Amino acid sequence: MARIAWISKKDVQGKTFDTVVIGGGPAGYSAAVYAKRFLLNTIVIAKLIGGQLTLTDYVDDYPACRKIKATDLVNRFKRHAEDFGVKTYWGDSVESFEKTGDGKLYKITTKKGVELYAKSIIVAVGTKRRKLGIPGEKEFSGRGVSYCSVCDAPLYAGKDSVIVVGGGDAAFEGALLLSGYVKKVYLVHRRKHFRAKPFFVERVLTKPNIEILVDSVLTEIGGDKLVRYAKVKNKITGEEKEINVDGVFIEIGFEPDKEWAVKNGLNVDNAGYIIVDDWMRTNLPGVFAAGDCTNKWPNFRQVVTAAAMGSIAAYSAFNYLQENNLL
Ligand code: NAP
Repeated sequence: MARIAWISKKDVQGKTFDTVVIGGGPAGYSAAVYAKRFLLNTIVIAKLIGGQLTLTDYVDDYPACRKIKATDLVNRFKRHAEDFGVKTYWGDSVESFEKTGDGKLYKITTKKGVELYAKSIIVAVGTKRRKLGIPGEKEFSGRGVSYCSVCDAPLYAGKDSVIVVGGGDAAFEGALLLSGYVKKVYLVHRRKHFRAKPFFVERVLTKPNIEILVDSVLTEIGGDKLVRYAKVKNKITGEEKEINVDGVFIEIGFEPDKEWAVKNGLNVDNAGYIIVDDWMRTNLPGVFAAGDCTNKWPNFRQVVTAAAMGSIAAYSAFNYLQENNLL
């Protein structure tokens, strides 16, 4: 029998669930799998499925899944949850949640105006892309400025040159991918040391068409209808040069949606990540958080850590529901 894994507005409007998972990435679907294991009536609300996994090419370090295409891994997460009976309300996002009058439930309101109720919530909303904030960045966004090498690299096939900004896994992975499409790739990083895994760094160093510019920052992006140049400044010497490029790929990581978290009463750290304890409990009773949106293991935000956090959050939600006689 065909599975119906998607649900619509009318299936959630006014309904009450044991656990509502907010977010459809590895943390969210892992939480959903475990919540179902605890026989909790669970749904996932997700604007997009896959979270940051949709922005990467292959995943080679998720245990038991050797060199798997990121989109396949996303599907496996989702299908696993679906096989357990989890339904996803997709294409909408949670605007707010607040305790109801009796204090037993949370009323959740979505951007599309749907209202539903949850006995517990698992927040797995991930993070959003960090911007450089330099002249030309906004103006040329989508016209040569990209925030996703994996998504947009093929559009640059045969072009002369591009710049990738950043020193993490995404920048290195992006530079490697682009080096197969474009004649010359400049990798611009603001310091000498790289955050990227040595495996990626070693591979980049073997590519003759990738030039790494360290201690350097972009100061301006310019062009006509499309990006034509970027200005790169060496922070040590102060020298600034204009490089002709067809595209600028900004791969400088992600930041949490601090405003959303604070608005909903969640305590966050200075950077805006939701503060959780070892059991993924937030400051709000019955609200747990998992994955990249939390302050757990900063600088090591991996699929495996997100999935682990999701499972722990579900376990904690189950304990909370039992202890408070909510099941
Ligand atoms: P990241 O690890 O946070 O690295 C961001 C990089 O951008 C850092 O090198 C940082 O410099 C630089 N940066 C930050 N703000 C900047 C600014 N305003 N101007 C210039 N440079 C700036 O982010 P990511 O590379 O996007 O990776 C995010 C997570 O996904 C990581 O956990 C990563 O391991 C994971 N990931 C994994 C894979 C894979 O394994 N296949 C692929 C992609 C991503 P500093 O180093 O100086 O701070």
